[in-house]
Amino acid sequence: MFLKVEHLGIAVKSLESAEALYERLLGTTVYKREAVESEHVTTSFLQTGETKIELLESTDPNGAIGKFIEKKGEGIHHIAFEVADIHAEMDRLRSEGFILLNETPKKGADNKLVCFIHPKSANGVLVELCQEIRPQ
Ligand code: ZN
Repeated sequence: MFLKVEHLGIAVKSLESAEALYERLLGTTVYKREAVESEHVTTSFLQTGETKIELLESTDPNGAIGKFIEKKGEGIHHIAFEVADIHAEMDRLRSEGFILLNETPKKGADNKLVCFIHPKSANGVLVELCQEIRPQ
């Protein structure tokens, strides 16, 4: 089951200036900055109501965000939906013919298990599924 839009991911060239801008825009402050080395990004999160904004700065020009910015410039990179059971949703989407970019959930930023769906499967939109990692 899809629960809500958990966050929007925005690719930025400079996290520092984007943080300042989004803090002014949203009237709130960044509550977390986190490096995700496997994805070659540093992320910052701002909360707005039930939804978060994830700012993504590349740490490697050959990483996904580095390439995205080179090709398309700064802007919305992905939409992330919180799901109740990421394994069940991945199975369901696979059987519906969606192309998943990872075969098993992987550890993402903000204490989440994540899986990405290929933009070709979703009208050009990179869709992320995420589920909070709960303490065992
Ligand atoms: Zn994300």
